[in-house]
Amino acid sequence: MNRKDADVVIIGAGLTGLTLAYYLKRNGKYPVIIEKSDRPGGVINTVSDRGFIYETGPNTGVLGTPEIASLFDDLSDSCTLATADPKAQKRYILKNGKWHALPSSLISAIGTPLFSFKDKMGILAEPFRKPGIDPDESIGMMVVRRLGQSYLDYAVDPFISGIYAGDPQKLVTRYALPKLYALEQNYGSFIRGAIKKSREMKSEAEKKATKEVFSVKGGLGNLIMPLAENTGEKNIFYEASGTCVEPEGNGFSVIFSDKRGDSIKLSAPVIVSTIGSYNLPDLLPFITPYKLSPITNMEYAGVVQVALGYNKWEGHVLDAFGGLIPSKENRQVLGILFPSAIFSGRAPEGGALLSAFLGGMKRPEMINKQDVEIEEIVLREVESTLFPGQHPDLLKIFRYTHAIPQYGISSGERLDSIRKIQEQYPGLILAGNIRDGIGMADRVKQAKLIADMLK
Ligand SMILES: Cc1cc2nc3c(=O)[nH]c(=O)nc-3n(C[C@H](O)[C@H](O)[C@H](O)COP(=O)(O)OP(=O)(O)OC[C@H]3O[C@@H](n4cnc5c(N)ncnc54)[C@H](O)[C@@H]3O)c2cc1C
Repeated sequence: MNRKDADVVIIGAGLTGLTLAYYLKRNGKYPVIIEKSDRPGGVINTVSDRGFIYETGPNTGVLGTPEIASLFDDLSDSCTLATADPKAQKRYILKNGKWHALPSSLISAIGTPLFSFKDKMGILAEPFRKPGIDPDESIGMMVVRRLGQSYLDYAVDPFISGIYAGDPQKLVTRYALPKLYALEQNYGSFIRGAIKKSREMKSEAEKKATKEVFSVKGGLGNLIMPLAENTGEKNIFYEASGTCVEPEGNGFSVIFSDKRGDSIKLSAPVIVSTIGSYNLPDLLPFITPYKLSPITNMEYAGVVQVALGYNKWEGHVLDAFGGLIPSKENRQVLGILFPSAIFSGRAPEGGALLSAFLGGMKRPEMINKQDVEIEEIVLREVESTLFPGQHPDLLKIFRYTHAIPQYGISSGERLDSIRKIQEQYPGLILAGNIRDGIGMADRVKQAKLIADMLK
């Protein structure tokens, strides 16, 4: 290859792309990002409106990897990590129309009405149950096998809604919850594994992964801004359209139209895609649909998120992270988070900010409902469970047709295809949440690992 306009061209200025650019620059490389929308952040976006600070996409992350903790250390001059108020640690689960706190101690686990007596007693035998032998076992099957049906219905199902907007019977544990899978495989039991792991020596880096719930002072947008600034305005092409990659010499060319409609061609030895699988065929026309299909076949959960702001809150006491709603309850909302209870400054004094989620794999029809219908559903659910007879002062609806990729039964084939394509075209890296985890901490970890690999 003769010409080089960048060391690495990154497709997508979401959290993965921006973090990658940040660490590439720190490693002395020159990255350029191509982004189709007019702003950085991808699905992360914070809005400030009438005294409320709300997220239109993800609300909170978990400090679950050393890399996300290190990113906050690295950005400490330009953004302030906010961890959840300890008073908001409780998680409510709805059963028969009432919120019950998910047990956090042995005593509360015995007393909770969430689980059946049989399963509560059965948990004593969990450490002695044999590990599973099917590597593609679903989360649902695994949980019933180890813990019992009521734990699936009233703990795992609502949590899977909260994380994946998914169906625990369709997500494969090994790919969707690899840490849980490893607990059983490595230690023979969840309980024994959790106890042993908590006693293991941790490196200084591992100690940083405190598993606390995080955001950023002023909202997650304040994590995005310093990352984008670090990449530099001139190195991010916003409103790029028709972007496509072609092999060229020992590297690649990327062709797109910039926001003025001018055609641009950039050459680089490395291209990193961070976009959804459904956008890959247009980006990579030189790869046959047959080869891409195990990747493009991946299912996504659609999610509707509704931000609700109340200037004066006189409803259910918001002393929790939020409330999750098991599918068994047959309600139309997956869960309602309480962002103003988790982080300060999200609502006017005495007021409250809620964030309701609808849709997911079990209620895909929600994504196509009109705003008036969504509003009606959410108000009905909030009024019946949290704040009777009170209308919010702010209500905003956001739709994501491809919110969360589902790491289901075809994940092995997908990962295999990604590996084969990357081997066939050295320098082409297919990243983003099509692999390595869907949470923000996973995204940062992947970006940091790729930046280090490209050193
Ligand atoms: C509603 C919702 C709630 C969530 N809640 C949580 C949560 O509570 N906690 C958590 O940890 N995670 C949550 N997630 C997941 C997490 O937010 C995402 O996995 C993560 O932010 C994805 O970052 P990304 O950079 O990989 O992808 P994205 O944010 O999707 O960024 C990809 C970027 O690529 C751009 N792009 C796409 N196609 C092209 C193209 N052809 N050319 C150029 N640019 C292109 C897009 O415009 C976008 O900016 C949530 C996600 C959603 C949607």
